[in-house]
Amino acid sequence: MYLGGRGLGVKLLFELSDPDIDPLSPENPLIFTIGPLTGIAPMASGTVLTSKSPLTGTVFSWNTGGGFGRELKKAGIDALVLAGKAKQPSFVEVRGDEIKIVQASQLWGKGTDACTEALKSKGNVACIGRAGENEVLISSFVIDSIHSGRGGLGAVAGSKLLKAVVVKGEKECLPASPEKFKELETKMLKLFEANPVLSKGLANYGTPAFVKLLDYMGLIPCKNFSGREITFADLFSGEYIKTSFELEKESCSACPLGCKRRIKKTGQVLPDYDSLWAFGFNLENQVFDSVLLADRICKDYGLDPISAGSVLGACAELQSRKMNVRELETLLAGIGEGSEPGKGSRKYLLTRDRKYLSMDVKGLELGGFDPRGIRGQALAYATSCHGGDYLTAFMVGPEVLGKPLLLDRFSLKGKAGILQVFENLTAVLDSLVFCPFSIFAINEELCSALLHSGAGIDVSPAELLKAGERIWNLERIYNLRAGFTRKDDTLPERLFETGSEERGDGIPRQEFEAALQDYYRYRGWNKEGVPSQGKLRELGLG
Ligand code: SF4
Repeated sequence: MYLGGRGLGVKLLFELSDPDIDPLSPENPLIFTIGPLTGIAPMASGTVLTSKSPLTGTVFSWNTGGGFGRELKKAGIDALVLAGKAKQPSFVEVRGDEIKIVQASQLWGKGTDACTEALKSKGNVACIGRAGENEVLISSFVIDSIHSGRGGLGAVAGSKLLKAVVVKGEKECLPASPEKFKELETKMLKLFEANPVLSKGLANYGTPAFVKLLDYMGLIPCKNFSGREITFADLFSGEYIKTSFELEKESCSACPLGCKRRIKKTGQVLPDYDSLWAFGFNLENQVFDSVLLADRICKDYGLDPISAGSVLGACAELQSRKMNVRELETLLAGIGEGSEPGKGSRKYLLTRDRKYLSMDVKGLELGGFDPRGIRGQALAYATSCHGGDYLTAFMVGPEVLGKPLLLDRFSLKGKAGILQVFENLTAVLDSLVFCPFSIFAINEELCSALLHSGAGIDVSPAELLKAGERIWNLERIYNLRAGFTRKDDTLPERLFETGSEERGDGIPRQEFEAALQDYYRYRGWNKEGVPSQGKLRELGLG
C-alpha cells in the first residue's frame, strides 16, 4: 500500500525508471499525483510532484498547495506521468477525459506570471519559467501561482520541452459517507483552532509568524551559517509586516487557515519565511523591498528561493564580502538564465575547490532553521531522502514549538526513534497530500477515520504508519541504487563542534554518529544504512 501522492509517485518512479538514469534525460519521468482525500478534505487540494532530482541525484517529491490536485481528481486522474521529450516547446492540457499535448512556442521564454496568465482560462496551471527552460539545477515549478518544488524539478520539465500542465476537471469530489465525513471535518477544524501554531500563528501572520521565536532562540542562521546574530529580526516579523502593509489573506483551495498574504497595493504575494531567510537574514540584507524583489524574480524565473539565497550567501563568503543588495536583481536573473551558481552551491563551489562553504546535505541547500540548536532537525537533515529538506521531518515542531510534545532541542539522545516516527507520519501526510502544516493537528488516527468516511478505504492507524515506513524504505533503496551511501548521511563540516563553542554552537560529532547508528537500528538497517532483508520482507519490498 502506497496511499497516493508521494508514495504513489515514488512507487511509479521506481517502476518506470532506473535509479541511475540521467535526471535530465527523456527517460526520467515527471509525475503529478494526488491522494484519496484530495478535493474532499480540508487542506488537501494540492498535488505532489515526483522525479529524480538533477540537483541532488536522489529521489525527489514535493507536496504543494493550491487547487491543481483537486482539478486532477475532478478529471479522474490519480497520477499523471510525463516521460520522453517533446519535439517542440509544449504544454499538456487535461480537460475532463481528454488529454492533449499542445504546441507552446509562444509561451517559451515567458516568465511564470505571463505563462499562468495566458493559460489560466483553460484551468489550473503548473508551469516553469526561464530557469526551468535553461535546465538550471535549482529551478522549480510555479503551481497555482505558488513557488513549488525544490531539487531542480523545473529543469526536468525544461529538458522535456514541457512548459506547463493545465488541468480542468468536470467530476464532483464527494466523500463516501457525507454525514460521517462532515463530523470528522468539524473535528479537524476544531483541532486546527485549538492549535495556536496554526490558529494564532500561521492564520494571522503566515510563515513569518516563526521569525520572532526563532530569533529569540538563536535559530536563524546568517552569513552562510557562519553566524546567528540577527539585528533586524523585528523588521521581518509577521507582526511588523502586518502593520506595515495593507494585506489581503489568500488560501489554497479548501484551506480554513490561509497562510498566504497579498499586498493590496501591488498585488504581490508576500514572501514566505524561506525567502525572508534566504534573501534577508542569510545575506544580512535588511532592505525589505529588495527581499520582495528577489522573491518576485525567483517566482517569475521559477527558481527555488532557498537554494538561490544559499548559493548567493556562499558566493559572498567566497569573495569575503557582504552581498550588495543592489546586485541581487542582476545576479538572480543571471542564475535564471543559466549562470554558474545555478548549478547549486555544492557543484558551484566544487569547481572553485571550496566545497566546504556549501551548506547542503546531499547537494540540497539547507533552509533557514539552524540545526546546531535543533539537534533532531540535524539528524532529520542528514537522513532525509531529499537532502537538506526540512519538510521531510519538521522537527522544529517538537523541538521549538513543543508540538506534539516539547523535546530538549540541544540533545540527540532518544531522538532517533522519535524522528523515524515523524518521518513515517510525514510520508503518510504527503501521500494523502495534506498540506505539510497539517502535521500540527492531524495524526494517523484521524487520517484513518477520514479515509474510511471520505474515500471508503479501511486502513488502521498502524497500517498507515507502516505504509509511511514502506515509502521511506523504498526511497532509501532508490538512493542506494543511485549510488548514495552512509557517508552521504551527514551535515556540512561547519555545523560540527570544533571545541571552542558555547552550548548550541556546534554539534558534537561523536553524539551525532551515535544517533545516526541508533537511527539505522530503529529503521532495521545495518551499520551502513542498508535496509536488512528481514525489514524489506516485512514491508513487502523484499
Ligand atoms: S496552510 Fe497555507 S500552504 Fe497550507 S493549505 Fe493552507 S494556505 Fe495552503
